[in-house]
Amino acid sequence: MPVLLTGGRVVTMDPERRIQDADVLVRDGKIEAVGRTLKDTEGGRAVGTTVIDCEGLIVLPGLVQAHIHLCQTLFRGLADDLALEDWLAKRIWPLEAAHTEESVYWSAMLGAAELLLGGTTAILDMETVRHTGAAFEALESIGLRATSGKCLMDSGDNPPALREPTDRALAESADLCAKWHGAADGRLRYCFAPRFAPSCTGPLLRAVSDLAAKAGAVIHTHAAETPVELQIVRRETGQDELAYLDSVGISGPRAALAHCVWVDQEGIARLARQRTNVVHCPSSNLKLGSGIAPIPEMRAAGCRVGLGADGAPCNNRLDAFSEMRLAALIQKPRLGPDALPAAQVLELATLGGARALGLEGEIGSIEVGKRADLVVLDLEGPHNQPAEADLVSRVVYSARAADVRHVLVDGRVVVKDGQLKTAKVEEIRREANAQARRLRRAVGV
Ligand SMILES: [Zn+2]
Repeated sequence: MPVLLTGGRVVTMDPERRIQDADVLVRDGKIEAVGRTLKDTEGGRAVGTTVIDCEGLIVLPGLVQAHIHLCQTLFRGLADDLALEDWLAKRIWPLEAAHTEESVYWSAMLGAAELLLGGTTAILDMETVRHTGAAFEALESIGLRATSGKCLMDSGDNPPALREPTDRALAESADLCAKWHGAADGRLRYCFAPRFAPSCTGPLLRAVSDLAAKAGAVIHTHAAETPVELQIVRRETGQDELAYLDSVGISGPRAALAHCVWVDQEGIARLARQRTNVVHCPSSNLKLGSGIAPIPEMRAAGCRVGLGADGAPCNNRLDAFSEMRLAALIQKPRLGPDALPAAQVLELATLGGARALGLEGEIGSIEVGKRADLVVLDLEGPHNQPAEADLVSRVVYSARAADVRHVLVDGRVVVKDGQLKTAKVEEIRREANAQARRLRRAVGV
């Protein structure tokens, strides 16, 4: 059914970065036209067209978060104020090990509901070792665009409850990829997701690189998050972590590396040369005390950079607006107030994320022919006034997730007037709380 958004102010993020007063016509999941008075055209008048009045509202490309762990949404508030190593070993790994199919499903539903209601339309997700199929089922029904993958942990350093034999980990990944890569008319895709270099053997990482290339899938992992991680990789491989990942085939446009906080000039040049995607997670990096990623330096070097909230227990929001604002602010004490201006930050949350998902031809901007992933914002609240201020500044610095009025994914209206249309929030709240209670008791936290 066609959808026509009329009378909004459209932030296109097209190559000229045009902002125009325009209608947006959506048909068969795609943007068919962007222009004035489309309601008078044949397409706009088609029988059954749903008209959404956007007068006085802002239309943005759907926001993309390129590093999320939906399986951790139920752990929100259960792992505060810990360094990464304790955060993983004492809380996250035991909680992930206690997951069942049901708890993974409701964890994904809870996270996806928060994401959609806050204007995030696409994610790159890392699940846990088991029950990844349940997360895909949740994503299929709730309507979020997602590239998701089973977490891979096969080295001897992992907790026994999560460690898997290399062959079994790879075989299950290949099965999940065969089932879900391209499902829901291409809205769902599979990624190969080694947790991070110290969790994985060299043969597994090499095999992942081959499998991903064969399937046309993204490789999603963490890199250079803390100095401890770099020391472990150097001790075990004799190499800098980014050089090591490159040596096993985890680099280039197909790879998305979350964090990259501890990267020197040589590493930045390497990432730029390879066109590897970096995913910046400013809230997570601050909350775990990891540091501040050199994002302006990466951009200056030509790196591809996206943005993500990471998991709920290290943030504790899954809110693209919080991440945008923080991404801009945390660079300024270090490099001056002109570092990473609002317009560059909006690129990270749209086009940068689209590139990290390998979907730059499909999403990330409002252009004819792209998938209709759209967010309609209401900036009438006092916290977004006066209205004459620069629009991109308002979106990045003052807007909040609660300002999201309508959301479309693949041309389907998934949020209308601030209400989720694809699932019952009350049911998600009830089931998610019941599962979180069970996990807490099982782990004793
Ligand atoms: Zn992460």
